[in-house]
Amino acid sequence: MHDVDVVVVGAGLAGLSAARTLVGAGRTVAVLEARDRVAGRTLGGFLSNGVPVEMGGQWVGPTQLAALELIEELALKTFPTFDEGDALTVFDGNVVRYSDEDFGLPPESAAEVGRLWEQLEALASAVAVEAPWDTDGAEELDRQTLDGWLVANTEDSIARRFFRVLVPVLFSAETPELSFLHFLFYVRSGTSLETLAATTGGAQERRVLGGTHQISERMSADLGDAVRLNAVVRTIRQDESGVLVEYEGGSITAGRVVVAVPQTLAGRLRYVPPLPALRDGLTQQMPAGSVIKLQVGYDAPFWREDGLSGLVLSLDDALTVVLDNSPHDGSCGVLVGFLEGAHARTASLMGADERRELVIAALVKYFGPKAANPFDIVEQDWTAEEFTRGCYGGRLGAGVWTQYGRALAVPVGRIHWAGAETSTVWNGYMDGAIRSGYRAAAEILEKLP
Ligand SMILES: Cc1cc2nc3c(=O)[nH]c(=O)nc-3n(C[C@H](O)[C@H](O)[C@H](O)COP(=O)(O)OP(=O)(O)OC[C@H]3O[C@@H](n4cnc5c(N)ncnc54)[C@H](O)[C@@H]3O)c2cc1C
Repeated sequence: MHDVDVVVVGAGLAGLSAARTLVGAGRTVAVLEARDRVAGRTLGGFLSNGVPVEMGGQWVGPTQLAALELIEELALKTFPTFDEGDALTVFDGNVVRYSDEDFGLPPESAAEVGRLWEQLEALASAVAVEAPWDTDGAEELDRQTLDGWLVANTEDSIARRFFRVLVPVLFSAETPELSFLHFLFYVRSGTSLETLAATTGGAQERRVLGGTHQISERMSADLGDAVRLNAVVRTIRQDESGVLVEYEGGSITAGRVVVAVPQTLAGRLRYVPPLPALRDGLTQQMPAGSVIKLQVGYDAPFWREDGLSGLVLSLDDALTVVLDNSPHDGSCGVLVGFLEGAHARTASLMGADERRELVIAALVKYFGPKAANPFDIVEQDWTAEEFTRGCYGGRLGAGVWTQYGRALAVPVGRIHWAGAETSTVWNGYMDGAIRSGYRAAAEILEKLP
């Protein structure tokens, strides 16, 4: 007799979605969470005036149906991201305002970006998203990095720089760090490059009133005592009779276990007997990108009066991307900015004051002197988090999909894998995390007597 039917490791969106589904099907569950809170990469924060801001995952978009349905089931509300007015692109010292689809780039470079964009969309639409290693030409696509593809496909230095900035904005990882096949898979998994990049009609379309952490908090509240905080799992043992999960402070037995932590952390757990080589090799090669997310509060969203949407993409600066993140009632102005990839790694070595100066200097460059005096800045460095170790999610370098990818979501005996990185739809996003939890729960319900 086991203590519970299923142990779930990790109380992020994936783990809690799995647990909720299993409990809904009449199973007993224990969710072991290392931190003193649930919600993982969807941490909630507050500015000093009490306005809630999202320090991790925040936006949901139209094809993210699992996330949208869950939000509704939990009686949470969404509201549209502010998306009116002109955007800004910064390159070669110029801050260029634009309202068309040319990103404010010189005509030749804009045309080149458009040509590459279409090529990428076409290649992505041909990816076998359920099994990327089966894509036509998979080995050739996986042999090269995204950067290698860019260098081979355009001579236009501004177009190259544009993608070398856009990609870290989408992945928190640099173009040389990504297998070209992985990039195409990710685009396909999130519908299209256009969908990933867009606000209205795309992945940044809506926000959750009060913050996305509430999705996990509400699921956790429904699960009650089944969720145990401060329970750092270290070892998973399995034999023909069941699993024994050992955590700091205790152990628990079950018929099956769902491991719903980032893949790189799944690889740091001890498994007895050891995992098959392919699965272990995969977790060693799925690090996350680097990102520091900042929320900058102003008395008012002053950029709106200047006809600006707040969206900035800078090819010159460490603060590569900025969006309007003001509360839905406009009671103050908030700009959300990201230090991504290499810039995040450099900035994480700085002191908080130096980082703050860097961020304010960039915002003044983009929006003028009114940006000089925020009433508060809050920041979150995800690479420093022991129980996340980088964001937004795990990425695959050249060769990994075709050599190891098959092991990503296949159960190992009584161990089932969940987490945003294991989803074929909206991989790396909140929606993918939720879908992965549902998938792991369905696998178990099929197996349990
Ligand atoms: C800055 C940032 C911005 C993002 N923006 C968006 C966005 O706008 N839209 C979007 O859809 N997605 C976004 N994402 C991605 C999204 O947040 C994640 O894909 C999603 O939250 C992952 O959920 P998960 O359950 O798979 O993993 P996690 O949230 O990482 O949950 C894993 C849980 O496991 C716990 N854990 C780890 N190790 C152990 C252990 N040994 N024992 C027990 N527990 C353990 C962790 O504490 C954590 O709670 C963003 C992420 C970041 C960081």
